[in-house]
Amino acid sequence: MSNIAAKAKELLESKAVQVVIGYEAGPTGVVRPAFVTDPAKTDSLIYNENCLQNLAMYLTKHEVKHLGKMGIVATLPVMRSIMMLISEQQVVAENIVVLGISDDGKLLDIADMNVMKAHIEKSNLGNPTKDQEKLAELNKLSLEEKFKFWEQELSKCIKCYACRQSCPMCYCIRCSTDCNQPQWIPVQANTQGNIDWHILRAMHLAGRCISCGECGRACPLNIPCHLLTMQLSDQTYNYFKVHAGTSVDMKSVMSTFEPNDKESFII
Ligand code: SF4
Ligand code: SF4
Ligand code: SF4
Repeated sequence: MSNIAAKAKELLESKAVQVVIGYEAGPTGVVRPAFVTDPAKTDSLIYNENCLQNLAMYLTKHEVKHLGKMGIVATLPVMRSIMMLISEQQVVAENIVVLGISDDGKLLDIADMNVMKAHIEKSNLGNPTKDQEKLAELNKLSLEEKFKFWEQELSKCIKCYACRQSCPMCYCIRCSTDCNQPQWIPVQANTQGNIDWHILRAMHLAGRCISCGECGRACPLNIPCHLLTMQLSDQTYNYFKVHAGTSVDMKSVMSTFEPNDKESFII
């Protein structure tokens, strides 16, 4: 039995949690999320390099929340998502037990949110290297070239909203795209409407995106929409020296005003 399975079994047997959210191999061997409630079934839990999905998105789902206290297998992006969700009052720290995973795949001893905070603080919080390299490439382009790149990419979007559904920070019960009074975003997929949708989402994620890359991985058309929110994460850090998901009481960058703010963005 792996360390993760043993820990999950112990938590379920002692009734410290009622469900453990983790990863398992599906019937075809493809990794999928697992929701284990029976201590006798924790053997199905695995962790390997294919366990990439950000499981934190399930913490705000009614179907999972109503099971009771939740244990969750958490790599760094999942831990940062948990911090964000607590700071935005979407989950309660006391309802979550973190089965932390180190960068080299080992089970960490995360006794509480203070321990998790300390672990996050000593980690690399920048965007993943391959995404940072792509952003650097894009940032070398002229405005017109950048616009052309995104116009081409976003014209492929079919508005399936898998990017939104997979993002732990897109937890709104009713997304702005689903509102029709007023209709902010056109229902049909067309290039201008798709650009509107992605600008709206990127702005909603500014200072909140924890750079997990899940939205890009979820896209069936391989549109690198995660680069939009990651670019804003970079900007947030450059302007405000804040990384999202590093504290349970962090204030939202986009909705916090200080009288001595530079206001250099006002034109
Ligand atoms: S990378 Fe995408 S899925 Fe992950 S937090 Fe940012 S916007 Fe959400
Ligand atoms: S795109 Fe904006 S409104 Fe829609 S779910 Fe995400 S954060 Fe909420
Ligand atoms: S997942 Fe891809 S195709 Fe679907 S809405 Fe997002 S960007 Fe568009």
